[in-house]
Amino acid sequence: MATDWRDAFDLGDGAVSTEAPAEDRAGVFRRLRKGLSRSRTALTAELSASFTERIDETTWERLEEALILADVGAKTTAQVVRRLEDEAEAGELTGGEALRERLIELLAETATPADGRIHLRERPAVLMIVGVNGTGKTTTIGKIAWHLQKELGLDVIVGAADTYRAAAVNQLAEWADRAGSQIVRGSEGGDPGAVAFDAIGAARSRGADVVICDTAGRLHTHGNLMEELSKVRRVIGKQIPDAPHETLVVIDATTGQNGIRQAEEFGKAVEVTGAVLTKLDGSAKGGVVLAIASELGIPVKLIGIGESLEDLRPFDAEQFARALIEE
Ligand code: GDP
Ligand code: MG
Repeated sequence: MATDWRDAFDLGDGAVSTEAPAEDRAGVFRRLRKGLSRSRTALTAELSASFTERIDETTWERLEEALILADVGAKTTAQVVRRLEDEAEAGELTGGEALRERLIELLAETATPADGRIHLRERPAVLMIVGVNGTGKTTTIGKIAWHLQKELGLDVIVGAADTYRAAAVNQLAEWADRAGSQIVRGSEGGDPGAVAFDAIGAARSRGADVVICDTAGRLHTHGNLMEELSKVRRVIGKQIPDAPHETLVVIDATTGQNGIRQAEEFGKAVEVTGAVLTKLDGSAKGGVVLAIASELGIPVKLIGIGESLEDLRPFDAEQFARALIEE
């Protein structure tokens, strides 16, 4: 599991500079707890009634209700509560504290992806970012570029394939500037596939390590958007077989379970390999991360708990469940 940016990426052999200072884990956890405070307050208020010394039928009802209200999802909730019930019956859980601790463990277990790393082994490796407008695609790209460039010593090129809004290109240019990455842009309203093509060309000629491709999140129709995204994907695949090596869908966590549907939609158009869940700081229903992580079939790879650079974090299910539930 990744708690650290260096562990969050699979960069192939020998590409990683280990100059980056190890992060202060306690500080990272404190920040995560702060980012999740709205969700935790809501959830622990509901949960505390279940964490009493007497474990009985109402314990399970309350627990189930609390998890559903926190958007943990019906399937995950049923699965976890069933196991807790079994363990309590077998005499393995004695009292509220043991129950809370075991709940954290089981939630973490169901939400832990088989492989949550971002695979960027090839040179250049191509990372494509998709998602609905306003979910946080462009800022996520800026932050990923920063970590790859400044902490891991890689050379990153960002492609501004959201060509419909000049503001979007300027915003990406600002992030690229901060990260020290080169930006490739097209003409306004130009062909996004051409931008992706040029970005890969630039990476090849300059020997850059990673290309991150931004995309539009809204067109006149939903069908048009999906068609365009799959076209951008085809253009990338023609340049480099097996590329994009990762396609991450960015989901605004405040949209709750709706995010699951979005991820599925984008998954149909472009082969999505992971999810980024943003704006958890603005949500009281952060449990949705656990629902998405265990029900979607694609791993949650990154989470956003605020707007600043340090607020995009590799997803660690154990750390997440603890920050959400521990008082
Ligand atoms: P895009 O349209 O998908 O490219 O979205 P943007 O990257 O432009 O982001 C939209 C807004 O969401 C910006 O103001 C970001 O700063 C903000 N944002 C992104 N991630 C987070 C997060 O984790 N927490 C909060 N509070 N804001 C975020
Ligand atoms: Mg954008």
